[in-house]
Amino acid sequence: MRALDVVVVGAGAAGIGMALALQKIPRLRFGVLEAGRIGESFHRWPAETRFITPSFYSNPFGMADLNAVNELSSPAIFSGSEHPSGEQFAAYLAFLAKGHELPVVENCPVQHVAALERSQGFRLSTPQGQLRARFLIWATGEYQYPDLDPFPGAQWCLHYAQVNSWKAVAGTHHTVIGGYESGVDAAVNLAAQGCAVRLLVRKSSWDPQSTYDPSLSLSPYSRERLHRQVDSDRLEILFGVDVIRVTQGQGIGFRVHASDGRYWDVPQPPILGTGFVKGGGARQIAGLWQWDGDNRIVLSEADESTRTPGLFLIGPQVRHDTRIYCFIYKFRQRFGLIAHSIAQCLGLDSQALQVGVGAWGPFGNSECCEGCEC
Ligand SMILES: Cc1cc2nc3c(=O)[nH]c(=O)nc-3n(C[C@H](O)[C@H](O)[C@H](O)COP(=O)(O)OP(=O)(O)OC[C@H]3O[C@@H](n4cnc5c(N)ncnc54)[C@H](O)[C@@H]3O)c2cc1C
Repeated sequence: MRALDVVVVGAGAAGIGMALALQKIPRLRFGVLEAGRIGESFHRWPAETRFITPSFYSNPFGMADLNAVNELSSPAIFSGSEHPSGEQFAAYLAFLAKGHELPVVENCPVQHVAALERSQGFRLSTPQGQLRARFLIWATGEYQYPDLDPFPGAQWCLHYAQVNSWKAVAGTHHTVIGGYESGVDAAVNLAAQGCAVRLLVRKSSWDPQSTYDPSLSLSPYSRERLHRQVDSDRLEILFGVDVIRVTQGQGIGFRVHASDGRYWDVPQPPILGTGFVKGGGARQIAGLWQWDGDNRIVLSEADESTRTPGLFLIGPQVRHDTRIYCFIYKFRQRFGLIAHSIAQCLGLDSQALQVGVGAWGPFGNSECCEGCEC
């Protein structure tokens, strides 16, 4: 059994960014285990999906590209795109991993984690054998864990995360449920290819009176695209719709039922833009976390499990009070913090985390978001 100081599980944006921060600590022995390919979730995005946060090469002025996972790189430069596709972003992550010679093992799913007694670390089981780690950083994301059961009858629906390309979705009339990023993206893409689309939403996530936090409010990129399709008359938005059930009827395709008694008969399976399982991939090791009443993971100030010392969470599931770290430019701020905590515990030098353009500032300063509206 090999033994490492740190194992990162997952080689998405969080895992690769975290590994780049760990690499700055001299003599730290670490590795990254990935169930599929580097950037696997991005490979699985619908072909038409684009980053909503814009990419722009601003790094030399201390403001790293919003979608970069380290201080110096830029998806804008790598892909030549302001709004990269999933494939482009996965290629960017693979390019970084190769260029920095990160120790990533692909096609190596972690199947079981045992926390050893007296905080001695973790034993990880994979098809390629067992591995021991003093610290474990869980970076398994949300995208591969769609909530396929948000209401009865959801089995008749098609979830956003099950779509490879909107062009491959049969039919010309569609009903999309959910009014945040994935629901709007589905509706906009289908309308843009000429379909008639009905978008059912509880309330507007683009209401100017609501918060400006992009984790709760529709991004400008999506608003613009939404308005363009509304203007085209192919997209109809119905507000105040709380879908409670979908049934399959004879000859009518499917019936979508709302809590106020309204219903819509639709020819094609309704499309779910209703979100992902709370906790996402962290559910794989559910017993090692403390969960709050809202099914969110409780973390220490340094993003360590409050139930299992030595276990850290990085990625979109991280929350601290009202701060939601579900964008890359948000959760990358925690890389330096976690790397620094681990280096301190092991008595290793973490100076290098503070060197370089933007280092330890935007990438490790947990205070940046404290109380601010960012
Ligand atoms: C449609 C859409 C658009 C988005 N647009 C933006 C945007 O514009 N800007 C932005 O900042 N964010 C955006 N996001 C959110 C962003 O994509 C996620 O926050 C980000 O991908 C999370 O990165 P991650 O590394 O935590 O997760 P992932 O990218 O999902 O990576 C997790 C990795 O863990 C691996 N894994 C899972 N379980 C195991 C296991 N047991 N063993 C080993 N490996 C495992 C998976 O294969 C995967 O590669 C968007 C999300 C969606 C769905």
